[in-house]
Amino acid sequence: MEQRKKRVLGNWKMNLTSHEVRQLAEGMKEMPLADGVEVGVFPGFPYISMVKELLPQIRVGAQNFYPQENGAFTGEVSVLQIKDLGATMVLIGHSERRAIFNEDHLFLKKKVDASLNAGIKPVFCCGEPFEIRNTGGELSFVKQQLEDSLFHLSKPNLMKSVIAYEPVWAIGTGLTATTEQAEEMHRSIRGWISEKYDEETANGISILYGGSCNASNAKELFACPNVDGGLIGGASLKADTFQAIVNSF
Ligand code: PEP
Repeated sequence: MEQRKKRVLGNWKMNLTSHEVRQLAEGMKEMPLADGVEVGVFPGFPYISMVKELLPQIRVGAQNFYPQENGAFTGEVSVLQIKDLGATMVLIGHSERRAIFNEDHLFLKKKVDASLNAGIKPVFCCGEPFEIRNTGGELSFVKQQLEDSLFHLSKPNLMKSVIAYEPVWAIGTGLTATTEQAEEMHRSIRGWISEKYDEETANGISILYGGSCNASNAKELFACPNVDGGLIGGASLKADTFQAIVNSF
């Protein structure tokens, strides 16, 4: 059974063209990987296999897929296609997909199941918007997101998943959760897993923090006992910054 790992994953979002991907990968090629830390990136679809070839020492994932095997879904990409390109993980439930593309909890649940069926690790994102944090409802909001789309999984399948807590108000805004806010949420998530499954499962699953995590704040966030690393957006687009975050444990 997979052990709880420290992880730093970079979400490149809809950024970079092939030349820029090559440049960034060049900067990351010599990157000394921190001991025991799993590093990975999520490039745009067209560059998955290129990054896989350029950076064989790290994990490569996809930012999205459509949860049908194949067929008349013009413009969509299947889980088998991302797997074929070399992706071994996929982002599911990112707030941008929830908000801009209206992905609801049932659709996310389908994606979670389809990724696990294909042997692709789901990195399941959850997190509350500002209005919810402002009124103190963040714990129940995030618990509901997990219950709706993730907690139907069997214990072995949940253990294959990664959870990323990403408060929506912190994503791309420069506002980072305080260590107290992050630790409270991560501890609560582990507590819910323990109640629903058991302690072994709760202690085995990586829970990453995401939301304006950068080279200056990663150290204190990663020092929180229940924070197992980060899902990094903007700060993963520069090799030296990303390396500094990887070295922040
Ligand atoms: C993200 O989009 O997953 C993210 C954490 O973005 P940023 O680090 O730019 O806030």
